[in-house]
Amino acid sequence: MRYHRGVMRVDYHVHTEFSNDCLAPMEEQCRAAIAAGVRQIAFTEHEENNPREFLPFSFDHPAYLQELARCRARYGDRLLIRSGIEISEPHRYTVETARVLRRYPWDFVLGSLHWISADINTGTREFFTAYGDWRASFRAYFREMLNLARYGDFDVLAHMDYPARYCAPYIDGVYDIREYEDEIRAVLRAVIERGKGIEINTASLRMRLPATCPPQCVVDWYRAMGGELLTVGSDAHRSDHVGADIDTALLMARQAGFTRITLYERRRPQQAEIEDARVSVC
Ligand SMILES: [Zn+2]
Ligand SMILES: [Zn+2]
Repeated sequence: MRYHRGVMRVDYHVHTEFSNDCLAPMEEQCRAAIAAGVRQIAFTEHEENNPREFLPFSFDHPAYLQELARCRARYGDRLLIRSGIEISEPHRYTVETARVLRRYPWDFVLGSLHWISADINTGTREFFTAYGDWRASFRAYFREMLNLARYGDFDVLAHMDYPARYCAPYIDGVYDIREYEDEIRAVLRAVIERGKGIEINTASLRMRLPATCPPQCVVDWYRAMGGELLTVGSDAHRSDHVGADIDTALLMARQAGFTRITLYERRRPQQAEIEDARVSVC
Protein backbone atom coordinates (compact mmCIF):
# COMPACT_ATOMS: atom_id res chain seq x y z
CA MET A 1 0.00 0.00 0.00
CA ARG A 2 3.02 2.26 -0.33
CA TYR A 3 1.41 4.30 -3.15
CA HIS A 4 -1.21 5.54 -0.66
CA ARG A 5 1.47 7.65 0.97
CA GLY A 6 3.96 10.18 -0.26
CA VAL A 7 3.67 13.12 -2.63
CA MET A 8 0.97 12.81 -5.28
CA ARG A 9 -1.72 14.41 -7.40
CA VAL A 10 -5.36 13.94 -6.45
CA ASP A 11 -8.61 14.63 -8.31
CA TYR A 12 -11.83 14.69 -6.29
CA HIS A 13 -14.39 15.42 -8.98
CA VAL A 14 -14.41 13.03 -11.95
CA HIS A 15 -17.30 11.52 -13.92
CA THR A 16 -17.57 8.24 -15.81
CA GLU A 17 -20.22 6.60 -17.98
CA PHE A 18 -22.31 6.14 -14.82
CA SER A 19 -23.19 9.84 -15.20
CA ASN A 20 -25.88 10.98 -17.63
CA ASP A 21 -23.55 13.33 -19.52
CA CYS A 22 -20.37 11.27 -19.71
CA LEU A 23 -19.37 8.49 -22.08
CA ALA A 24 -15.95 7.61 -20.67
CA PRO A 25 -15.78 4.13 -19.13
CA MET A 26 -14.48 4.04 -15.55
CA GLU A 27 -11.55 1.92 -16.62
CA GLU A 28 -10.52 4.54 -19.18
CA GLN A 29 -10.72 7.26 -16.50
CA CYS A 30 -8.51 5.14 -14.23
CA ARG A 31 -5.88 4.74 -16.93
CA ALA A 32 -6.03 8.47 -17.73
CA ALA A 33 -5.59 9.31 -14.05
CA ILE A 34 -2.53 7.10 -13.73
CA ALA A 35 -1.06 8.61 -16.92
CA ALA A 36 -1.67 12.12 -15.51
CA GLY A 37 0.13 11.28 -12.28
CA VAL A 38 -3.06 11.19 -10.20
CA ARG A 39 -2.77 8.70 -7.35
CA GLN A 40 -6.09 9.29 -5.61
CA ILE A 41 -9.40 9.88 -7.38
CA ALA A 42 -13.08 10.20 -6.46
CA PHE A 43 -15.62 9.19 -9.10
CA THR A 44 -18.49 11.58 -8.34
CA GLU A 45 -21.41 10.55 -10.51
CA HIS A 46 -24.51 12.65 -11.09
CA GLU A 47 -27.49 11.88 -8.88
CA GLU A 48 -30.45 13.74 -10.36
CA ASN A 49 -33.89 13.66 -8.81
CA ASN A 50 -35.46 16.41 -10.88
CA PRO A 51 -37.91 14.83 -13.35
CA ARG A 52 -37.16 17.72 -15.74
CA GLU A 53 -33.47 16.83 -15.99
CA PHE A 54 -32.50 17.09 -19.69
CA LEU A 55 -30.86 13.73 -19.95
CA PRO A 56 -33.10 11.28 -18.19
CA PHE A 57 -30.86 8.62 -16.74
CA SER A 58 -30.81 7.03 -13.41
CA PHE A 59 -27.50 6.43 -11.69
CA ASP A 60 -27.22 2.64 -11.39
CA HIS A 61 -25.60 2.47 -7.97
CA PRO A 62 -25.07 -1.32 -7.70
CA ALA A 63 -23.50 -1.46 -11.18
CA TYR A 64 -21.27 1.51 -10.30
CA LEU A 65 -20.04 -0.13 -7.10
CA GLN A 66 -19.41 -3.38 -8.93
CA GLU A 67 -17.32 -1.60 -11.57
CA LEU A 68 -15.54 0.37 -8.84
CA ALA A 69 -14.58 -2.90 -7.14
CA ARG A 70 -13.33 -4.29 -10.46
CA CYS A 71 -11.23 -1.16 -11.10
CA ARG A 72 -9.88 -1.22 -7.56
CA ALA A 73 -8.78 -4.83 -8.08
CA ARG A 74 -7.18 -3.99 -11.40
CA TYR A 75 -5.59 -0.58 -10.72
CA GLY A 76 -5.41 -0.56 -6.93
CA ASP A 77 -1.66 -0.87 -6.94
CA ARG A 78 -1.38 2.50 -8.72
CA LEU A 79 -4.57 4.39 -7.89
CA LEU A 80 -6.65 4.82 -4.75
CA ILE A 81 -10.29 5.05 -5.86
CA ARG A 82 -12.92 6.70 -3.66
CA SER A 83 -16.63 6.11 -4.21
CA GLY A 84 -18.39 9.42 -4.80
CA ILE A 85 -21.67 10.96 -5.79
CA GLU A 86 -22.63 14.47 -6.94
CA ILE A 87 -26.16 15.09 -5.72
CA SER A 88 -28.18 17.86 -7.34
CA GLU A 89 -30.16 19.92 -4.84
CA PRO A 90 -29.88 17.56 -1.86
CA HIS A 91 -31.80 20.11 0.25
CA ARG A 92 -34.81 19.84 -2.06
CA TYR A 93 -34.81 16.06 -2.44
CA THR A 94 -34.13 15.16 1.17
CA VAL A 95 -35.97 11.84 1.24
CA GLU A 96 -34.34 10.54 -1.94
CA THR A 97 -30.94 11.84 -0.78
CA ALA A 98 -31.21 10.20 2.64
CA ARG A 99 -32.17 6.92 1.02
CA VAL A 100 -29.24 6.79 -1.40
CA LEU A 101 -26.70 7.99 1.16
CA ARG A 102 -27.85 5.41 3.68
CA ARG A 103 -27.97 2.51 1.28
CA TYR A 104 -24.46 2.56 -0.22
CA PRO A 105 -20.91 2.99 1.15
CA TRP A 106 -19.97 6.47 -0.13
CA ASP A 107 -16.56 7.95 0.59
CA PHE A 108 -17.38 11.43 -0.69
CA VAL A 109 -20.55 13.42 -1.41
CA LEU A 110 -20.65 16.60 -3.50
CA GLY A 111 -23.70 18.86 -3.16
CA SER A 112 -24.60 20.81 -6.31
CA LEU A 113 -27.07 23.48 -7.32
CA HIS A 114 -27.79 22.89 -11.01
CA TRP A 115 -31.50 23.79 -10.84
CA ILE A 116 -32.38 26.97 -8.92
CA SER A 117 -35.97 25.76 -8.72
CA ALA A 118 -37.71 22.62 -9.87
CA ASP A 119 -38.19 24.07 -13.34
CA ILE A 120 -35.28 26.47 -13.99
CA ASN A 121 -31.86 25.12 -14.87
CA THR A 122 -29.09 27.60 -14.10
CA GLY A 123 -27.25 27.02 -17.37
CA THR A 124 -30.11 28.32 -19.52
CA ARG A 125 -31.35 31.64 -20.92
CA GLU A 126 -34.47 31.20 -18.84
CA PHE A 127 -32.43 31.40 -15.65
CA PHE A 128 -30.60 34.61 -16.63
CA THR A 129 -33.90 36.39 -17.36
CA ALA A 130 -36.15 34.90 -14.67
CA TYR A 131 -35.31 37.39 -11.90
CA GLY A 132 -35.40 40.70 -13.75
CA ASP A 133 -31.82 40.96 -14.95
CA TRP A 134 -28.83 38.63 -14.96
CA ARG A 135 -27.27 40.17 -11.85
CA ALA A 136 -30.48 39.46 -9.94
CA SER A 137 -30.31 35.87 -11.22
CA PHE A 138 -26.82 35.41 -9.80
CA ARG A 139 -27.98 36.91 -6.51
CA ALA A 140 -30.95 34.53 -6.41
CA TYR A 141 -28.57 31.66 -7.15
CA PHE A 142 -26.34 32.38 -4.17
CA ARG A 143 -29.39 32.87 -1.92
CA GLU A 144 -30.70 29.46 -2.94
CA MET A 145 -27.25 28.01 -2.36
CA LEU A 146 -27.55 29.12 1.26
CA ASN A 147 -30.50 26.73 1.60
CA LEU A 148 -28.38 23.93 0.18
CA ALA A 149 -25.51 24.80 2.54
CA ARG A 150 -27.82 24.94 5.56
CA TYR A 151 -30.12 22.01 4.95
CA GLY A 152 -28.56 19.65 2.40
CA ASP A 153 -26.73 16.43 3.25
CA PHE A 154 -23.34 16.61 1.51
CA ASP A 155 -19.63 16.82 2.33
CA VAL A 156 -18.41 19.49 -0.08
CA LEU A 157 -20.26 22.21 -2.00
CA ALA A 158 -19.50 21.76 -5.70
CA HIS A 159 -18.65 24.53 -8.20
CA MET A 160 -20.00 27.45 -6.13
CA ASP A 161 -20.63 29.86 -9.00
CA TYR A 162 -21.75 27.28 -11.53
CA PRO A 163 -23.87 29.69 -13.70
CA ALA A 164 -20.64 31.60 -14.48
CA ARG A 165 -19.77 28.75 -16.85
CA TYR A 166 -22.80 29.48 -19.01
CA CYS A 167 -23.53 33.19 -18.57
CA ALA A 168 -21.54 34.66 -21.49
CA PRO A 169 -24.30 34.61 -24.15
CA TYR A 170 -26.89 36.06 -21.76
CA ILE A 171 -25.21 38.95 -19.95
CA ASP A 172 -24.48 42.49 -21.08
CA GLY A 173 -21.72 43.31 -18.63
CA VAL A 174 -18.88 41.67 -16.74
CA TYR A 175 -19.68 39.01 -14.20
CA ASP A 176 -17.78 39.78 -10.99
CA ILE A 177 -18.40 37.47 -8.07
CA ARG A 178 -17.36 40.20 -5.60
CA GLU A 179 -20.73 41.89 -6.20
CA TYR A 180 -22.30 39.00 -4.31
CA GLU A 181 -19.87 38.94 -1.41
CA ASP A 182 -22.56 39.19 1.29
CA GLU A 183 -24.55 36.28 -0.11
CA ILE A 184 -21.43 34.17 -0.59
CA ARG A 185 -20.07 34.87 2.88
CA ALA A 186 -23.41 33.67 4.29
CA VAL A 187 -23.00 30.41 2.35
CA LEU A 188 -19.39 30.00 3.54
CA ARG A 189 -20.45 30.65 7.14
CA ALA A 190 -23.07 27.88 6.93
CA VAL A 191 -20.54 25.51 5.34
CA ILE A 192 -18.01 26.14 8.12
CA GLU A 193 -20.58 25.89 10.92
CA ARG A 194 -21.79 22.53 9.64
CA GLY A 195 -18.29 21.06 9.21
CA LYS A 196 -18.65 20.89 5.44
CA GLY A 197 -16.20 22.03 2.75
CA ILE A 198 -15.96 23.70 -0.65
CA GLU A 199 -14.07 22.68 -3.78
CA ILE A 200 -11.91 24.44 -6.32
CA ASN A 201 -13.39 23.17 -9.59
CA THR A 202 -11.11 23.66 -12.59
CA ALA A 203 -13.57 22.83 -15.41
CA SER A 204 -14.18 26.50 -16.20
CA LEU A 205 -10.51 26.95 -17.17
CA ARG A 206 -11.05 24.43 -19.96
CA MET A 207 -14.10 26.42 -21.05
CA ARG A 208 -11.81 29.41 -21.63
CA LEU A 209 -13.15 31.28 -18.64
CA PRO A 210 -10.74 33.44 -16.70
CA ALA A 211 -11.12 31.73 -13.33
CA THR A 212 -11.80 28.51 -11.49
CA CYS A 213 -15.17 27.92 -9.91
CA PRO A 214 -15.17 29.59 -7.45
CA PRO A 215 -12.33 32.05 -8.13
CA GLN A 216 -9.41 32.95 -5.87
CA CYS A 217 -11.18 35.67 -3.88
CA VAL A 218 -13.81 33.23 -2.57
CA VAL A 219 -11.09 30.79 -1.48
CA ASP A 220 -9.42 33.74 0.28
CA TRP A 221 -12.65 34.73 2.09
CA TYR A 222 -13.29 31.12 3.06
CA ARG A 223 -9.82 30.74 4.56
CA ALA A 224 -10.00 34.08 6.39
CA MET A 225 -13.36 33.05 7.87
CA GLY A 226 -11.81 29.87 9.27
CA GLY A 227 -12.61 27.42 6.47
CA GLU A 228 -10.44 24.31 6.61
CA LEU A 229 -12.04 21.67 4.41
CA LEU A 230 -11.16 22.21 0.75
CA THR A 231 -11.04 19.72 -2.12
CA VAL A 232 -9.76 20.08 -5.68
CA GLY A 233 -11.39 18.57 -8.75
CA SER A 234 -11.28 18.72 -12.53
CA ASP A 235 -14.96 17.80 -13.07
CA ALA A 236 -13.63 15.74 -15.97
CA HIS A 237 -16.21 14.19 -18.26
CA ARG A 238 -13.52 13.03 -20.73
CA SER A 239 -10.37 11.06 -20.15
CA ASP A 240 -8.05 13.80 -21.41
CA HIS A 241 -9.42 16.11 -18.71
CA VAL A 242 -8.67 13.92 -15.69
CA GLY A 243 -6.28 15.77 -13.39
CA ALA A 244 -6.48 18.95 -15.52
CA ASP A 245 -5.33 22.15 -13.78
CA ILE A 246 -5.22 20.50 -10.37
CA ASP A 247 -1.77 22.04 -9.90
CA THR A 248 -3.29 25.49 -10.43
CA ALA A 249 -5.99 24.75 -7.86
CA LEU A 250 -3.40 23.69 -5.29
CA LEU A 251 -1.38 26.84 -5.87
CA MET A 252 -4.56 28.87 -5.37
CA ALA A 253 -5.24 27.05 -2.10
CA ARG A 254 -1.73 27.88 -0.98
CA GLN A 255 -2.10 31.49 -1.97
CA ALA A 256 -5.22 31.70 0.18
CA GLY A 257 -3.22 30.40 3.14
CA PHE A 258 -4.15 26.72 3.07
CA THR A 259 -1.31 24.36 3.90
CA ARG A 260 -3.52 21.30 3.57
CA ILE A 261 -6.08 19.89 1.18
CA THR A 262 -8.90 17.53 2.13
CA LEU A 263 -9.43 13.91 1.11
CA TYR A 264 -12.35 11.75 2.24
CA GLU A 265 -12.87 8.15 3.28
CA ARG A 266 -16.37 6.96 4.25
CA ARG A 267 -17.32 10.63 4.43
CA ARG A 268 -14.67 11.42 7.02
CA PRO A 269 -12.26 14.23 6.09
CA GLN A 270 -8.53 13.57 6.09
CA GLN A 271 -6.08 16.44 5.66
CA ALA A 272 -3.07 16.12 3.32
CA GLU A 273 -0.19 18.60 3.20
CA ILE A 274 0.22 20.67 0.03
CA GLU A 275 3.75 20.33 -1.34
CA ASP A 276 4.84 22.03 -4.55
CA ALA A 277 1.48 21.68 -6.30
CA ARG A 278 1.18 18.10 -5.09
CA VAL A 279 -0.24 16.79 -1.85
CA SER A 280 1.61 14.73 0.68
CA VAL A 281 -0.36 11.95 2.33
CA CYS A 282 1.00 10.35 5.46
ZN1 LIG B 1 -22.09 19.72 -11.39
ZN1 LIG C 1 -19.57 17.22 -11.87
